[in-house]
Amino acid sequence: MNTNPNKKPIKVPFMDLYAGIRDSYPELIEKIGYLIKKTQFIGGEEIGCFEKEFADFCRAKRAVACSSGTDALILTLKALGIGHGDVVITVPHTFIATAEAISAVGARAAFVDIEQKYFTMDPEKLQQYIKEHPKEKIKAVIPVHLYGQMADMESICAIAGKAGIKVVEDAAQAHGAEIKGKRPGAFGDAAAYSFYPGKNLGAFGDAGAVVTNNESLAVKIKMLSDHGRIRKYEHEIEGFNCRMDSIQAAILRVKLKRLEKANALRIAKADIYNSMLKDRKDITCPQARENYKHVYHLYVVRVKERDKTIEKFKKAGVSFGIHYPIPLHLQPAYKYLGYGQGDFPISEKLSKEILSLPLWPEIEETTIEYICKNI
Ligand SMILES: *Cc1c(COP(=O)(O)O)cnc(C)c1O
Repeated sequence: MNTNPNKKPIKVPFMDLYAGIRDSYPELIEKIGYLIKKTQFIGGEEIGCFEKEFADFCRAKRAVACSSGTDALILTLKALGIGHGDVVITVPHTFIATAEAISAVGARAAFVDIEQKYFTMDPEKLQQYIKEHPKEKIKAVIPVHLYGQMADMESICAIAGKAGIKVVEDAAQAHGAEIKGKRPGAFGDAAAYSFYPGKNLGAFGDAGAVVTNNESLAVKIKMLSDHGRIRKYEHEIEGFNCRMDSIQAAILRVKLKRLEKANALRIAKADIYNSMLKDRKDITCPQARENYKHVYHLYVVRVKERDKTIEKFKKAGVSFGIHYPIPLHLQPAYKYLGYGQGDFPISEKLSKEILSLPLWPEIEETTIEYICKNI
């Protein structure tokens, strides 16, 4: 994760994952050891318990554990019956997995631009796309809850509802984010979560989950994730092998107990950044929407002269990230969609200004001070 071409010792890492594990280390080792002795590697009670506990955390009815956030998106689109000839709308300012899931089920991704202030899907652009493409088989929209803050779900769900299209939330970066107390999974038809190690809730490898209030959708997704079966050797439909490992479920159950606290710490540390940077005219701090709970998966600022800041950071040994430097519509992989420079001006402009500063729940205030001094 640390790229330091000057080969100077890195003083500040981009994140410190072990800091969030240290206290739970004995419990984690004991649980893993127990499962090894029991040879419980696939399925079993850890999976069911995690699903119940994570659904409760999301304040939703069901969670289905699976192998990754990407697979959570694919399983959801598949379960909603989306496939060849269909169009799914999302944003170009996201991680590629959001769009990959759309093509993985045979559908085509269509992009709409984001809101400059919040980095998430602009509902007006969604409305406009639907209006301007009456002949397309638009089946779903995937708003992305980026950096820890949810997209404007009230507007997006209202637009999608009128147009008769499904809403699949990409909640890979938004465990515990809220709009008026509601969390991802309770707004759209379903939300896809990732437990990639660096996410707000991270496994010790790849893992993901789909969260939904729709019971029959949950049953279908569970079946699809496990070879389309309900019981051993009884296959209702053709599915995939997208299960979560039992060991990952056990690890996630231990880490889930600390997630509310870890999110509260992230918010507190983001507040420290905000107050230290508030007088800087050349830096735009992340904006939290009113009535929204932002859980700061990443602390992303906008800087006018990013190259200069990066040089300073490198000299000072401060690690950083850029999420994401090339919008999806300009990626070689999506050339075939036929988009070009200038199609999504906000995404293009922001991709040149964004800078992710080091943030993890346990980061010290003095470290934040050091970073702010060197920005
Ligand atoms: C991490 C991430 C994904 C993919 O999750 P994986 O578990 O790595 O497959 C999807 N969308 C967004 C926005 C992400 O940040």
